[in-house]
Amino acid sequence: TTTELELVNVSASWDEGIGELFEKIQQENKSRPPHSDPGMFFTNLYVTPVLRNISLYLEKGHMLAVAGSTGSGKSSLLMMILGELVPSEGKIRHSGRISFSPQTSWIMPGTIRDNILFGLTYDEYRYTSVIKACQLEEDFAEFPEKDKTHLVEGGVTLSGGQRARVGLARCVCKLMASKTRIVVTSKLDHLKRADKILLLHNGDCYFYGTFSELQAKRPDFSALLLGLEAYDNINAERRSSILTETLRRVSIDE
Ligand code: ADP
Repeated sequence: TTTELELVNVSASWDEGIGELFEKIQQENKSRPPHSDPGMFFTNLYVTPVLRNISLYLEKGHMLAVAGSTGSGKSSLLMMILGELVPSEGKIRHSGRISFSPQTSWIMPGTIRDNILFGLTYDEYRYTSVIKACQLEEDFAEFPEKDKTHLVEGGVTLSGGQRARVGLARCVCKLMASKTRIVVTSKLDHLKRADKILLLHNGDCYFYGTFSELQAKRPDFSALLLGLEAYDNINAERRSSILTETLRRVSIDE
């Protein structure tokens, strides 16, 4: 059985240990300009939630793409879905099992193909399309035995980028086996393919819906990103800062 997920008006804050909080207040007080109101800092520390009033519904077998500015709460949202962060308000409901695939991927001993299939039966059409989508063709060409090349524990023979692509292919392979998926991404290509998109900015929902709804409801945002040549192909860090800058710009304009 695959999983269904629903969030209804969910808000959450990260708790800070009293000790940590105390230290932070002392530091803030030291760096505080003399004329400012000390109460302000307590307010900031206590009440700023990491996620505010988030609602979404993900059908079984569907894909949700989560994108947003740096520090907007994407990881916190995942932690909440995994049960690590308890909502302070709202309801969260899901059926079935949830697994998490982190950005830095791990490699098990075996061939590259084993590492991608990870127990799934080999289906040539599906496998080839995943390899293309994850841009692994060029990587395979480098190896003496292509995707039949054996990897040792720790994956020392793969570069960081190659490891990430293998991990992604593994994940996408599973995705294609009609699982419900939540992908944190900044690529437009992924947003286009997703059934639903959640765009976060400063803990708020900037947009929730399909890609065509995004273009209709957030035309400025869409036009800015779609107008950037090769946005999807630049490195992830730069793409993420462009997305952050774009969200800042459009949310000030609105
Ligand atoms: P994103 O993944 O979108 O970059 P995060 O969810 O990591 O954003 O961060 C959102 C906010 O929550 C940040 O202010 C960050 O400092 C805070 N935060 C994230 N994880 C924790 C944690 N485990 N404990 C306390 N604060 C956290």
